Amino acid sequence: MDKLWKKEGASCVFVNLCLFAGNSEKAEDGWENLSLYESCKDNQHSTELRMKGNVKFRLGLWTDAMDFSNQSLCFAEVNSENVTLAYANRSECFFRMEKYHEALIDIELAESSNISSRLMSKLDQIQQKSMASNENAKKCGKNEKSQGTEKCEIDKTNECPKVKMNFEQNRNYPCMANVLDIESNQNFGRHLIAKCDIPVGQTVLIEEDFVSMRVDDELVCGTCSKPKMNFIACANCTEAVFCNSDCMKRNLTHKWECGTIFAQLHYRMRFHIQAILLAVGTFGTVERLMEFVENVLLEDPDEVPPSLNNAQLKALFDTDEKQRFLMHLVLHHFLVIKTNSIISKNPWSTISVFNVLSMLNHSCVPNIYHPRKGNQQYCVTIRPVKKGEQLFISYLPINNELLYEERNEKFTSTWGFSCICEKCRGFKKPIEPNSIISDSNFQFIVENFNIEGNRDKLPILMENCIIFLNNFGNTPCSNEILMIVTIFVVLYIETLS
Ligand SMILES: [Zn+2]
Ligand SMILES: [Zn+2]
Ligand SMILES: [Zn+2]
Repeated sequence: MDKLWKKEGASCVFVNLCLFAGNSEKAEDGWENLSLYESCKDNQHSTELRMKGNVKFRLGLWTDAMDFSNQSLCFAEVNSENVTLAYANRSECFFRMEKYHEALIDIELAESSNISSRLMSKLDQIQQKSMASNENAKKCGKNEKSQGTEKCEIDKTNECPKVKMNFEQNRNYPCMANVLDIESNQNFGRHLIAKCDIPVGQTVLIEEDFVSMRVDDELVCGTCSKPKMNFIACANCTEAVFCNSDCMKRNLTHKWECGTIFAQLHYRMRFHIQAILLAVGTFGTVERLMEFVENVLLEDPDEVPPSLNNAQLKALFDTDEKQRFLMHLVLHHFLVIKTNSIISKNPWSTISVFNVLSMLNHSCVPNIYHPRKGNQQYCVTIRPVKKGEQLFISYLPINNELLYEERNEKFTSTWGFSCICEKCRGFKKPIEPNSIISDSNFQFIVENFNIEGNRDKLPILMENCIIFLNNFGNTPCSNEILMIVTIFVVLYIETLS
């Protein structure tokens, strides 16, 4: 690791990492392996998949039938009837799932492709039924959120209309509140501190992921990771789908992955590749990326370059010098992802890396909770933060019941640190439970919170949690305080939906 970003003597070439790994192979040999797998369209296979979908449809298994329609679409040869049939079948699935709006979009997609008159009359029937049902749903106030047509940008802003940052944006890091600053020291590396006292319940960071990837098998948009959309398929390979032509155009990295073995790799491996491709894609050329990295190293030789922000692969790394650089880039991203990636389950299982959020260190008694919504991560204060104090999140679920040894085994093996938080040092005694139990805010929360959710009471419950946590949040942690933190977190997530 200490060889990362080191140059060969006085030369300006990065040291050859393969030699240090006991491998004299050049990166050149690896290129050939990338094209071992060639994905190609195949109407016969597409038809087989459609047939399987038809069986599922007859059994009333709409989701399974839709999965087969999408697979059939991926293998369908461009401009063939198989494309149209896949859209048409998917439309019927959407219709049965009462997603009339999506059903109508699929009919439009089918009509704009190579359609036969036989199919046309069938589609007309679904179209009329969908339009009628869509109107009915609107009248009944069931106007379901249309997921299919909106462009991703619009969806993003619509996703969380209620939660905004409670402070002005930080000038250098607009995703972060201006009451926060980034500092660096030997013990904690780069970390976030409060520039003033921050009470509980303040949203201090809303950050979009730098790179993220689904960790389950669900077919999702190759750009925005949304599932169950009116997908269109990549015209070249059989692996990628996009919500619409907009998501297809916005994609920065698929051109390098298309038709290669990448799509078949384990998600952790693909995630590393994605991060590197995004770095290259953002800078446009390897020269510009190298220049950026070298400038960062020049400013502070001990500082590893920060995660490189977001944009034809073999041709890019066409010299020994560039390939050495690529090796360092790979190792750098490997280290970043190993220690900084966040796996979250909401709203679907993803692995992500963030530029700012990833700087937050761990405490078993954190002052920040960081729920995810869509492709954004939120940070909200759950205990009062005093001026100059560091912001901490918990790398483990907040109410985990692991013992000190079990927790620290995880920290050292996964992230390479041992926790020195107040809980792990264990010298403070929790406050007498009686004084908490008799607190009026505590009593109100316990009496009125129910897990089923009661949206009418949400604001008043949140308010009671905030007052309670502002009063007791800085006392040594106890089960009662953890319980209110957990309730507050549940309520906060509710406000995001
Ligand atoms: Zn998309
Ligand atoms: Zn492709
Ligand atoms: Zn700890």
